[in-house]
Amino acid sequence: VALRIDDTLRRAVLLYPDVEAVLENERRWTYREFQSEVHQLARAMQRLGIEKGDRVAVLSPNTAAMLQLFYACFQLGAVVVPLNTRLLPHDYQYIVDHAEAKLFFVDEELIPLVQPIVDELPTVSKRIMIALDVSSEPHGGWATFHSLLAQESCDPLVVEIEETDLATILYTSGTTGKPKGVMHSHRTLYFNMQNTMFHLRASDHDVLLHTLPMFHVNGWGTPFSFTAVGARHVMLRKIDPPLIHSLIQNEGITVACMAPTVLNMLINEPLFHSDKVDSSIRVVIAGSAPPTAFVRTVEQQLGWEFIQVYGMTECAPLITVSPIKHHLRNEEEETRFRRKAKAGIPMLNVEIRVVDDENSDVPRDGKSIGEVIARGNMVMEGYWKQPEATAAAIMDGWYRTGDMATVDAEGYIDIVDRKKDIIISGGENISSIEVEGLLYEHPAVLEAAVVSVPHEKWGEVPYAIIVPRPGMQIDEEALNHFCRERMAAFKCPKGFQIVDELPKTASGKIRKVELRQPFWQEKG
Ligand code: ATP
Ligand code: MG
Repeated sequence: VALRIDDTLRRAVLLYPDVEAVLENERRWTYREFQSEVHQLARAMQRLGIEKGDRVAVLSPNTAAMLQLFYACFQLGAVVVPLNTRLLPHDYQYIVDHAEAKLFFVDEELIPLVQPIVDELPTVSKRIMIALDVSSEPHGGWATFHSLLAQESCDPLVVEIEETDLATILYTSGTTGKPKGVMHSHRTLYFNMQNTMFHLRASDHDVLLHTLPMFHVNGWGTPFSFTAVGARHVMLRKIDPPLIHSLIQNEGITVACMAPTVLNMLINEPLFHSDKVDSSIRVVIAGSAPPTAFVRTVEQQLGWEFIQVYGMTECAPLITVSPIKHHLRNEEEETRFRRKAKAGIPMLNVEIRVVDDENSDVPRDGKSIGEVIARGNMVMEGYWKQPEATAAAIMDGWYRTGDMATVDAEGYIDIVDRKKDIIISGGENISSIEVEGLLYEHPAVLEAAVVSVPHEKWGEVPYAIIVPRPGMQIDEEALNHFCRERMAAFKCPKGFQIVDELPKTASGKIRKVELRQPFWQEKG
């Protein structure tokens, strides 16, 4: 039997037809209702001429309709292309064109983002508005999602597909350059779904809050694995700490995946400071190498178990996971936090090596740095229409992550930095992540980014860009002193810049390329 990612929904409906599947604002769907609309949507797309292998683009925040569209595409064998909601009109034009999408689904609130370019998408034969109000009428060249569904029967559509057939093309975050279209098959998604389900111990008791954007692969492990077990999904249009607080209180949220920047917002939200917060959350999951101090704050102040995961779009996405409290039950609390501040150990059936420039494994001493490479069923099929980029990324089945890490005697992988973000100062490698970790220990620092800036003597030196906590002042001299007392001088930032906000990608990652640029431009 071919592995199909849409089988996750079929099983949930068989087990829990009348259990609530999705909550979005005030609207609720049972699993049966949710699936009926998926069937209608698949039929509607077929009527619009969509066949196996055709691409369907979608621009939407996290909504029930978006998840339904994913499932409808999988059922049809169509390839869903989700778009980042923080791009510019010409980016949308580039991606929709590059993917040669035939249909373009856009959430009503986001239509202004694409309005300037919608008439310049030659491959798109029909554009469909996902209206906020079910009774909205088609207008301005947009058909409506609900009117499309209304014409169709709820009978399932059966299309034969192979597990290696494409299920999605996900464009990368573009943290380090132009987005690339990562192709994933039903098989790679299925593999990741099973691993996520297992490692997060997903069950029908769970209520998942969708705090990661579903247009990114980061937001993809959980929707399918929690559907497979018949858990409940709570959709979230945008990150709004008071709303998140009330959903946790009222909907019994048990699991949420969040960018550390979002967790940071919650830590700083007074509503979460009350001792009376009686939270149902059993675990929060985040990536992005948080410092130990951060793990401690999440576990002690918010009272939530923290799990770190590590992965990338190209690996569907997860490849390592930190242990849970239960695995570390015999350890001291501080040891636990330190372990969870590392990316963790490889997931089931994921092979990982940390290698030097000659492709030899670095010693497992927790000190020697090498590039992380990974092999297994989760590795992408390649980059869409970019065979050279694919050949450069995958060698003999091993995906080269471009991330530098150490590995210790216990096999724990610790991400040091991206290859491109490491600061090489006077021949020493400085991890920007390590320096940021120290800055976060300072009480007045809300956010910090450390980047390389040119230096006559040392080639490059670290430089820190800092957002202070609301109402707090940062004294540069005092901060410099704070660093020098705690860290080798060559690692300490040689300058500070205080800003109100840091540029971020849609998944909440700091865009260091953008921060670095002005310094390197000035140099010529
Ligand atoms: P692009 O490839 O377009 O430049 P991107 O690499 O940021 O963008 P993603 O695939 O969303 O796009 O992110 C994967 C990257 O995020 C990893 O390669 C790694 O650098 C970083 N990352 C993910 N998880 C962690 C983690 N737990 N610790 C440190 N870094 C992480
Ligand atoms: Mg990348």
